[in-house]
Order: sequence, then structure tokens, then C-alpha cells
Amino acid sequence: MTSTLPSPGTYLRLRREAQRLSIDEVAALVRTDPDVPLAARADLLRAIEAGLTPISDVVIGSLMRAADVGSFRFDPEVLVRLIDIAAGDLSRKPPRLCRNCACSEFDACHCGSQGGHWIGCHWVEADLCSACAPSDAPAAALQPESRAA
Ligand SMILES: [Zn+2]
Ligand SMILES: [Zn+2]
Repeated sequence: MTSTLPSPGTYLRLRREAQRLSIDEVAALVRTDPDVPLAARADLLRAIEAGLTPISDVVIGSLMRAADVGSFRFDPEVLVRLIDIAAGDLSRKPPRLCRNCACSEFDACHCGSQGGHWIGCHWVEADLCSACAPSDAPAAALQPESRAA
């Protein structure tokens, strides 16, 4: 079960890609201690995504602030759980994630809006969200039964 979960770094990459953010855009949100130039933060982020370096508390804190204000959306609870799991702590239930975009219960995909209401994705499989699922309606159903002359 846990083997299908992404690593913390892969989780961040999937969420970044789902929001079409570049490494530099997310790096601009990341703080380090001591502070380093953007290019170095981008390198750090690449290393984190590749699982080559652990995510420091300072980086986690700055990412969580970004999630708070919505500049980089992910579920902080999921990130913390994945870090725990990567460290071998399997004491709590693994988070439910979409296998394609890694969205989760409190970090749904934006699927448009209706009457001013924000519409999020929903689960279509245990680990697949509606935003990533092939269209519900088969292509044939979209065709009119008969065409007016
Ligand atoms: Zn998805
Ligand atoms: Zn989704």
C-alpha cells in the first residue's frame, strides 16, 4: 500500500506540475537558512524533488506559508505524513492521493465553477480523481442520436 505513495519530493513535484508552476516559481516561495540566491534555492528544490536531499524544517515552513496564501497549493498534512512514512513511521493511515496529480481531500483540483461556486474534483477510483480520469461520458454519447436535416 505505501509503496504506491509518492515520496515527499515526488509529491511536491506532482503538485507543482499539476499547477503548472516552474521550479523557479516555487523556489521563489522557498526560504532557506541562511538565505541563498534564487538559483541555489531552485537547485535545492530540484534535489528535494529528486529525493536527493531531505526537506529541512525551514523549507517546509516556507512551503506551508505558500500553501496558506495559495501561491503553491498542496496539503501540508499530506506532506508531513509522507515525510513520516519515508522515515519509516507507518503508525497512521496513509493519505489518500490521486496517483496522477497527487491531489487529496483538502487539496482538490479546480474543475471550474458553477454559479460562483468553486467546483473541486472527486474520487472516481480509490486513487484517481475526476480531473485526471478519462471523461465520464464516452465519446459516442456526446454525438446527437440523429442530425436534423
Ligand atoms: Zn488527479
Ligand atoms: Zn484532483
